[in-house]
Amino acid sequence: MEILTTTAQMQQASRQHRKAGKRIGFVPTMGALHEGHLVLVDAAKERSDLVVMSIFVNPSQFGPGEDFSQYPRDLEKDHRMAEGRGVDLLFHPGVEDVYPSGDQTMVVVTELTRGLCGPFRPGHFRGVATVVAKLFNIVEPDVAVFGEKDYQQLTMVRRMVHDLRWNMEIEGVPTLREPSGLAMSSRNQYLSEGEKRDAESIYAALQEAQVLLKKGVREISQLVQAAKKVLVRSGSIQLEYLEIVDPTTLTPLERVDRPARILTAVRLNGKRLIDNAPLIP
Ligand code: AMP
Repeated sequence: MEILTTTAQMQQASRQHRKAGKRIGFVPTMGALHEGHLVLVDAAKERSDLVVMSIFVNPSQFGPGEDFSQYPRDLEKDHRMAEGRGVDLLFHPGVEDVYPSGDQTMVVVTELTRGLCGPFRPGHFRGVATVVAKLFNIVEPDVAVFGEKDYQQLTMVRRMVHDLRWNMEIEGVPTLREPSGLAMSSRNQYLSEGEKRDAESIYAALQEAQVLLKKGVREISQLVQAAKKVLVRSGSIQLEYLEIVDPTTLTPLERVDRPARILTAVRLNGKRLIDNAPLIP
């Protein structure tokens, strides 16, 4: 595995491989890798000849008072894990390289970022769209792979690629979970064992909605109410939102008569956790 630390190196490498006829797969991450990231590598390998992974903790997607400086970083372990899974090029640029002083341009995807996590993390999606756009231009992938774990992000990136006429595919990969159902996340490192147990009610809540749906309940209000009840069973969980929306537009629905998506964000002793799942009638 080759490690590249500047955008110039990355651009050059990518162009060389493209010239040699290679199809490039790209997996953007913020590091602190876990198995949930590595299944994205597997998906990228299936769809390309050469896999580029980026590790970049993007300052512009963290709000004031969020965990940018405390975000877990373990580059040595990340290198081992990426190499072990067959990443070909690991791109790890510095902040000044990605955001040179004088930069003035941000990318905003409007409608899709208004709801759900949007109001709770002002500026977050603008930061994500901007860094993903920069990374796409640096890496020039044929296919980029994102996790459904960050479903609103995945939907936003699909829209951005469509709207800006980028000639690449976006592939979404289902969320990888712990045996308990807890969605794998770099931020799970912040949780104590007790908090991890409490956090199990997040996925249990999403499943409750699916179980009721299978029993014939179609009204969103009923499904949401039942899921919220499971969620707050553990007293330490504070709800930010729990919504059932159209899986493409992310707009609210009244009934689940066709495939939908249930998404939630909670705080557990101040730590923010998100999860989502498909709802198939
Ligand atoms: P992050 O490093 O948290 O920014 O995540 C990088 C990519 O990995 C994003 O596309 C995430 O959606 C994806 N990802 C993170 N956790 C998981 C998971 N448990 N299952 C699948 N994909 C994930």
